[in-house]
Amino acid sequence: MRAHTLKESVNRKIEKTLISSMNTDGDPCEDFYEYACGKWGTFHAVENKYHEAISLVDYFTNKEIARYLKFMNRENKPSFVLKAHDYFLSCQNLAVYEPLEYLKRLNFYENLNMRSHHRRRLGVKFDWLRILAVMRKYGLNGIFVEEITLQRNDDATVTVIDLDKPVKNGGFQLTDYDDLKLLIQTLRRPMHRKSFKDLWDQINAFEYRLKNLDLLDDPEGNILIKVKELSMPWLKRYLELVVDELNPEMEISIQNKPYLQKVFKLINEYEPGFICKYLELCFLWHLNVEGPPNFTLEDCAGSTRTLMPYAMHWLFEQMHPELVKEMREIHKMFEQLINHFSDSLKNNTYNFDYEQSQFLLNKLSNIQLKVGNLPRVNTEEKLNVFYKDLVMNPFDFYGNHLKLLKFNTQTMHKRLNYRISRDVDEFFYLEGSEIGFSSSPYFVQRANVVIVPVTSLQLPIYHPEADDIFKYSSLGFLLAHEIIHGFDYTGLGVDYNGNLNNAQLEGLVNNTRFGRKMHCLRYVNPAIIDEKIADVSGLRLAYETYFKMHPEAHGQIRYMHGRPYDVEKVFFLNFSQFFCGPVSNTLVDTKEHGLDRDRVRDALKHFEEFSAVYFCPRGSKMRREKTCQLWRR
Ligand SMILES: [Zn+2]
Repeated sequence: MRAHTLKESVNRKIEKTLISSMNTDGDPCEDFYEYACGKWGTFHAVENKYHEAISLVDYFTNKEIARYLKFMNRENKPSFVLKAHDYFLSCQNLAVYEPLEYLKRLNFYENLNMRSHHRRRLGVKFDWLRILAVMRKYGLNGIFVEEITLQRNDDATVTVIDLDKPVKNGGFQLTDYDDLKLLIQTLRRPMHRKSFKDLWDQINAFEYRLKNLDLLDDPEGNILIKVKELSMPWLKRYLELVVDELNPEMEISIQNKPYLQKVFKLINEYEPGFICKYLELCFLWHLNVEGPPNFTLEDCAGSTRTLMPYAMHWLFEQMHPELVKEMREIHKMFEQLINHFSDSLKNNTYNFDYEQSQFLLNKLSNIQLKVGNLPRVNTEEKLNVFYKDLVMNPFDFYGNHLKLLKFNTQTMHKRLNYRISRDVDEFFYLEGSEIGFSSSPYFVQRANVVIVPVTSLQLPIYHPEADDIFKYSSLGFLLAHEIIHGFDYTGLGVDYNGNLNNAQLEGLVNNTRFGRKMHCLRYVNPAIIDEKIADVSGLRLAYETYFKMHPEAHGQIRYMHGRPYDVEKVFFLNFSQFFCGPVSNTLVDTKEHGLDRDRVRDALKHFEEFSAVYFCPRGSKMRREKTCQLWRR
């Protein structure tokens, strides 16, 4: 018998996972998610460590990086890697988690007058606004006011500060009773049951009043003004404290002014001492959530990825030169998808006028792909410069964590002063904490760039040796999904330069047939119409591109573990398994994309080829007589 080649063994492994995760007792025409994913949890034997493909990849990536950092030889390493290593060591060296240490350091670094540092609080003047601003510098956001940076509507290369009411993740969230209890416990300051109850009542009543302000109308909407024209002195002072060397001539965007006026009034009805106590608790909770969950080696590696993403992207590429070599392949795959989509657009099934067609084609041909979010010219040197002001101490976790949070906020503000390059090789995108940590590809709408983290080029998502059927049904679908984001409801309002163009969007949606399809998809799940469009049309794009490249595969049989499967079925199974999770987890709703189970069902239900391949009878749940498809030939 001849030895298996690497290619054979990789594809066997994929087939084994595929077959072992299925529940063949399920009916593919009734619930394809159950059929494709029913045994995924048992096969992967997970215990809360990961719950679908992306978190599985992240978990193993963290483990691998942790092992590497634990035994890393520091000789000849660039300084930014040594800094990341120091942070990792400080996390690993931490014996007991004492969150109050954060407040002690913050007090010291910023010369703050915080409430927790006064035994006798009478007669002390608490400056809640300064404390709020300082905490913002250390990453706290969305308490009373949300301060972010965004691209100017009319010029995507210019970044401005945006002040708004809390809107991220569905807006301001009331503190959870159990979370507060947990937080107080970690402080290791015994609290009487009655005093805890009093504290909870106070916070709860205050937050209810805050939350009520959400209902205020914003007749003016988003407006652009100069800092010196800001009519609310408290916000002006807040900005001066948050942004170093604030230029009064600088333009900022502001939204929800009525809210911002009312919230200031509301806060001032309370004792400043109470507001400061509230802020301290919010800050500690923010550190608790943002920090490593259990200080295991994997958690520490994950936290290093979160806080120093570019250093870790670089390190991962050093550890995996074979994946760096694979970048060209990913670019080819991307081009195939773009070409196929371009052909579909040229068919112009909706009869868009010349200008509209040009708008779409122009946007498509200007979408760029960036594999690995790093500058590709003088990478090491650029990263050394980027991290140059950072000083880490391998024995001071709290100090390091705070310094990194401040560094990341400052970096965001530094980008206010220069124009963003359109050259994806020159540049790298600033990633928020959730993004730096995650292996999920994403689309930067205002830059018209799809970013693929190198860590996503691993199983079960990708393998250089995997057959095209596996590549296109998994990473291919993810790329297609991100490309379609440029052409979803939000995406159509942005032109190829990343500038907003609402007139264009209205014109497209006014096309009766196109508008009807859009409406049909909105009906599937109104809260996440963009995601539905990206899933439904992304699946079609990936599927058609694969079969266009492999016309011979249509009607072919692939034997997996001795059992015959139509190649089309293999495509649908592997696509679905990207979303598989343990049964207990299928009800966890991700705000952004909706339930994984529904993502699989909705995408397949609206794809006629699916029910045809499975011979789903009329009336079965996975077959719809009328499907909603926005982008098709
Ligand atoms: Zn998406």
